Amino acid sequence: MNRKYRKTVIAGNWKMNHTATQTRAFAESLKAILPKSKWCEIVVCVPFVNLPAALKAFRDTRIAIGAQNVHYAPSGAFTGEISAEMLKDLGVRYVIVGHSERRQMFGETDEIINQKMHAALNAGLSPILCVGETLEQRELGVTMERITLQVKTALANIPADRIRRVVIAYEPIWAIGTGKTPTVEQANEVCEAIRTIIRKLYGARIARSVSIQYGGSMNEHNAEGLLAQPDIDGGLIGGASLDPDTFIAIVHAANQDHA
Ligand code: PEP
Repeated sequence: MNRKYRKTVIAGNWKMNHTATQTRAFAESLKAILPKSKWCEIVVCVPFVNLPAALKAFRDTRIAIGAQNVHYAPSGAFTGEISAEMLKDLGVRYVIVGHSERRQMFGETDEIINQKMHAALNAGLSPILCVGETLEQRELGVTMERITLQVKTALANIPADRIRRVVIAYEPIWAIGTGKTPTVEQANEVCEAIRTIIRKLYGARIARSVSIQYGGSMNEHNAEGLLAQPDIDGGLIGGASLDPDTFIAIVHAANQDHA
C-alpha cells in the first residue's frame, strides 16, 4: 500500500441529474451523515448550472465541488461552452475531462482531451482524466494499448510539476452504468499499468503520488474490495453517487481501507 504517498479521492459524477433544489436537499442530507475522519478527499461533480448552488450548500465543509466538462479555449466564440477560468473563478476545484460519454456522444478525441487537460491545469483546476476500453477492445486483448494511447496523448506536454494535480480514473466503458464490473484484480491490473506509464513519463516519485481511481458501477457493496487494491486510490461514481446514503457508504468503504 502506498496510501501515505497519495490521497484517496471519492468523486461523484451526477451526469445530467438533479436540479438546483435537489442539489441543496442532497447537501443537507450529506452533511448530516458526513464522517468526521478525513482520510479521503470527497468531490461532487454536478451539472454546470448547479455549481453555484453546490458551492454555496457545501461551503464550510471539506467537500470539493467539480464540473463535468470544460472547454479548451480560454475565451471566445464558443456558444454554450464554459472555460476553465470561469470554473476556477466560481470556486470549483475539480473537473472531469474525457469521460467516455463525452468521447462517444460528443466526439471528443484524445487530442481534444489533451487541450482540455492543459486548459484545466493552466487555470489551477484539478482534472479527473477518464480513460477506459470498450468491451470489444477488452475481448480483442488491446486494453493496455488503448489505455496507454489515451494516457500518453492526454498528458502530452504536461510538465511534471503539474501532474500532482491530475487524478486519473480508469473506467472500463462496458462497466459504466451497466452493473457489470471487472474483478478487483482486473481493475487493479489496469490501474497499476497506468502508474507504470506515469513512471516512464515522469519518474517513480511522481508515479507514486498520483491518485488513480476506478470507475464503473462502483456501489456500496463492491467498493470495499475495489478500494482495498494497492493501485486503486478512490472511485469515480455515477449512479451510486446520486443518493447521499449510498455515496457516504462508499466514503466509509474508503475510510475502512485506511483503518
Ligand atoms: C461514471 O459515469 O463515471 C460512472 C462510473 O458511472 P456508474 O457508476 O453509474 O457506472
